Amino acid sequence: MKIIDLHADIGMDVLKKHQEHIKDVLTTYHLEKLKAGDVFGVNMACFFSGDETLDVAYDMVEALHGEIVTHHDVHLVLDGKFKDDKLNALMSIEGMGFIEADATDFLKWAYEKGVRIGSLCWNDSNALATGISGDPARGLTTFGKRAIQTMNELNMVVDVSHTNEKTFYDILETSKKPIIATHSNARALCHVDRNLTDQQIKAIAQNQGLIGLNAVRKFISDDEAQQNALTLAQHAQYMANLVGYQHLCIGFDFMDFLEPPYGRNAMASDLQDASMSQNFIKALETVGFTKTQIAAIAYQNVIDFFENL
Ligand SMILES: [Zn+2]
Repeated sequence: MKIIDLHADIGMDVLKKHQEHIKDVLTTYHLEKLKAGDVFGVNMACFFSGDETLDVAYDMVEALHGEIVTHHDVHLVLDGKFKDDKLNALMSIEGMGFIEADATDFLKWAYEKGVRIGSLCWNDSNALATGISGDPARGLTTFGKRAIQTMNELNMVVDVSHTNEKTFYDILETSKKPIIATHSNARALCHVDRNLTDQQIKAIAQNQGLIGLNAVRKFISDDEAQQNALTLAQHAQYMANLVGYQHLCIGFDFMDFLEPPYGRNAMASDLQDASMSQNFIKALETVGFTKTQIAAIAYQNVIDFFENL
C-alpha cells in the first residue's frame, strides 16, 4: 500500500551532509529506502531545536529545495497535487527559534521556496510560541499570533506537534484554517508530553485537521517490549474510536540517517527506517482496520487535506 509520511528530518540531513561536501543526499541516503517502503510522499522537515541563527535556516531551506528541484525522480508538492510516478516531496519548517520578532518576511520567503507546513516552535520557548519544555502558562506571543495569520494567508499549514497545551489552544483559537499534528500519538496510551490528550485529539478533529502516527519508540509505549508497529496501530485504533479514521495519517519521524541520540535505535523495533514502513500497514490490518480505512490513513486523508486547503 502506498504511503505518505508527513514527517522526516531530511532537510537537516541534507544541510549537514552538504557541509561535509557530500552531494546528492536524496539519492545516496533516502530514495532507495523510501521506495522499498512504498513511500509515495514524504514531508521533508528542516528541523531547528531553537538555538540556530536565521542564516542557518535560510541555508537549510535552500539546500533542501536545491536537491528536490534538481532531482528528476522527485516532485515538489506546491499546489496539493501529488504525482503517481514520482516521489512527492513536501517541505516544512520544524521550529522557528531563529526568528527574533516578526516572522512575516521569513514565512513569505519560505513559502516561495516551497515550504507548505510550519511549526513555530520545537520543544523550545521562543519569540513566537512555547514548546513542551517551556512554561506551561506561556503560549503564543503577539508575534506568534501574527505568524499564524500570515501562514493562513499564505496557505501554509500550521503544525502543532511540539507545542505545549497553552500554545496548542492559542493556535486553534487564532488559526482560521485546519491544523496538523504531523507526528504525535495518543497520551492516553503513552503518557508523554509529546502525545495528544483526548481533548486535543477532539479539538483537531473539530478543526478538520489531521494527526500523524509517530514511530519514535518512547512515544509509543513506556514498556520496551511494546514499542512496535502493532502498539502504534493501537494508537490509531484508539484515536479512530475517539474521532474517526478520517483524521489520521502517518508521521513516522524516521531518523536512521541522524547521529545518536537519534538514529534507528530511537524507533519502534519493526519501524526503524522508511524501508520498513509496510509493517505499519500490516499492523493496521491486524487491529481490524478495513482496506478503505487503511488507504485513508496511509495516504488518502493527506491528499484530501491538501486538495481542500
Ligand atoms: Zn519533531
